[in-house]
Amino acid sequence: MSQKVIGLIGGMSWESSAEYYRIINERVRDRLGGLHSARCLMWSFDFAEVEALQHAGHWDDATALMIEAARRLELGGADVVLICTNTMHRMADAVQAAIGLPLLHIADPTAGRIRDAGMRRVGLLGTAFTMEQDFYKGRLERRHGLDVLVPGEEDRALVHRVIYDELVQGRAEPASRQAYREVIARLVERGAEAIILGCTEIMLLVGPEDSSVPLFDTTTIHAEAAVDLALSGR
Ligand code: GLU
Repeated sequence: MSQKVIGLIGGMSWESSAEYYRIINERVRDRLGGLHSARCLMWSFDFAEVEALQHAGHWDDATALMIEAARRLELGGADVVLICTNTMHRMADAVQAAIGLPLLHIADPTAGRIRDAGMRRVGLLGTAFTMEQDFYKGRLERRHGLDVLVPGEEDRALVHRVIYDELVQGRAEPASRQAYREVIARLVERGAEAIILGCTEIMLLVGPEDSSVPLFDTTTIHAEAAVDLALSGR
């Protein structure tokens, strides 16, 4: 049986979508060897359009965009759909309800890895939407039994600003890496046993050397879970 087709809703931003594309292809090569690579489709947004809706709070219009993208992938022959951003999982349930194929939710394999590592109390870094609204923290807490800590108000503003002003624009600044290190250290002081990099670009800025506790990178975990699914039953 051939691989299942991974459908990626990307462009949010393309900086992280490029990482998804790299990781799924590398993992398929690791597993199947030789010239094997992933069977996949990507719909890539103009992120400026998405970001404008987010910051205006026009979530219904943003939901319609995500559904349209998922349908394009379904029509294109995808077997599974991934939304390649944590933030746009705000409308994951609506997207899942609008399509006839499974949506692989980014929080589920992430929580699974944390539980497998025997951890429960985690710090969450992401956009203000992800850190402050219930759709993400709530899923981690209610569905997966995690205890989620978010940074204090000033730290949240900093983490959010760096994402939109730098990371999605392809910039990884040393001063921002240092600032993130300090935000992580404050979460660890408050009892975080691990940190979720809950924005798909944060892995472009920080790595294990920037934290005294394990980092769970949602980009890598989500992409790897997609490969597990694509190769299952072969
Ligand atoms: N990629 C980011 C995330 O994982 C932020 C960009 C967006 O707002 O979609 O949340």
